[in-house]
Amino acid sequence: MYLVKGGATRPSLWDSEFIRQHDVPGPRYTSYPTALQFHEEFTRQDYLDAVARSNAGRKPLSIYVHLPFCQSLCYYCACNKVITQSEDKKRQYLDYLIKEIKQKAAEFGTDRPVFQMHWGGGTPTYYGEAELTELWYQIGRHFHLVDSDRGEYSIEIDPRTINSDKLGLLKGLGFNRISLGIQDFDPRVQQAINRVQSTEQIAELMQAARSYQYRSVNFDLIYGLPYQSVRSVTTTIEQVIALSPDRISLFNYAHLPERFKSQGLLPEEALPAADEKLAILCAASNQLVDAGYVYIGMDHFAKPSDELAQAQVRGVLHRNFQGYTTCKEADLIGLGVSAISLIDNVYCQNTKSITEYQSLLEQGQSPLLAGVALTGDDEIRRAVIMSFLCRNGLEPAEVEADYGIDFNDYFRCEMSALAGFVEQGLLEQEGRDYQLTPRGRLVVRKICMAFDLYLPEHMKQGRRFSRVL
Ligand code: SF4
Repeated sequence: MYLVKGGATRPSLWDSEFIRQHDVPGPRYTSYPTALQFHEEFTRQDYLDAVARSNAGRKPLSIYVHLPFCQSLCYYCACNKVITQSEDKKRQYLDYLIKEIKQKAAEFGTDRPVFQMHWGGGTPTYYGEAELTELWYQIGRHFHLVDSDRGEYSIEIDPRTINSDKLGLLKGLGFNRISLGIQDFDPRVQQAINRVQSTEQIAELMQAARSYQYRSVNFDLIYGLPYQSVRSVTTTIEQVIALSPDRISLFNYAHLPERFKSQGLLPEEALPAADEKLAILCAASNQLVDAGYVYIGMDHFAKPSDELAQAQVRGVLHRNFQGYTTCKEADLIGLGVSAISLIDNVYCQNTKSITEYQSLLEQGQSPLLAGVALTGDDEIRRAVIMSFLCRNGLEPAEVEADYGIDFNDYFRCEMSALAGFVEQGLLEQEGRDYQLTPRGRLVVRKICMAFDLYLPEHMKQGRRFSRVL
């Protein structure tokens, strides 16, 4: 077995020298191949063939719903969102979303069990209670959502758009997990990013979330924002620990104003320098681990009692476009503008333009934009990458049994990279099996990159990726 030894990654593992040595840019592998491989020659028929195979295979289903509207602009944002004050615009989108729900339900049938659903954005909770209820009702009417005890139903929440009552309504609808966008508690940082929300407001929501018995509460935090320092972030993390969320995502802010225009509104001179950023990451991660959080991987921490941490120890953690999940391998139906689906061996994405999305649905057409069908080689590489990401290691014999290959022969070139990772102390080898060391878990993306067939070409083309740490 190559499962987690112990669990928590020790504080001393996060040091600046280690980060400097291994912090390279690379994909986040919410999919393999990554979205860069999606192409517009992928046809509606390719998609329908995948749906037919999916219906024959009857894997469980997972649903992602994209609600793109936000009330105001957070200057750091790199999401696919639309800032609007128009209730009509929001309403109109909802009407088309419901058309897509009906379209997809007709394709997949209404009887296939859905074990997981996530609403993201944008700001899903920018919609009012009546519309949120209507949307849940329409999905529940057209798909077979398993009951809340068995299903994993989560929603992203902007704390500025919710109060205790609305949180109660969401629980009543069936959501059992919430993710709160916190980013930072420091008022000066909040002003600079144009996202002001008080600690008291969050404390009240946490109290309500506990009383409504949400199974898991996640906080999203960001490091690398203007005016952040080790001292200021340490204070934020102290407040976070006191509020005791079950999960924490600590994201790296990548400043790319040439790509995301609103980032140009941030006071550039106040961004922490690279060294300070590394020091912030070390300090914050150590603080979380000291407080008892387990490092799950790829920016994610969880309490040892949380299902994610437990699933990791048991080797049943999975990863999809919704991040880490305990949900078994499922076919994912993406609903809404820009949403990505994974159906059988096909990834596909809806159009990214709301106007086009609505116009296609108006004409009774599919809002499909692009996709990719996995080759046999993609499937093998994906299995290897997901094994490192979710199970902290790799058993070559398992890959050989599943795909009928001789692993050493098939991955002749990659074997030398694996040997290098063993030498660098990122992997331990036991017989033919590999296990990530605690340090290797911190830079697991780097190990996955060795198995990514398309990456060298993307690097050559100058594609930009976030850094692995
Ligand atoms: S609320 Fe979220 S999606 Fe909307 S602008 Fe802010 S960060 Fe972006």
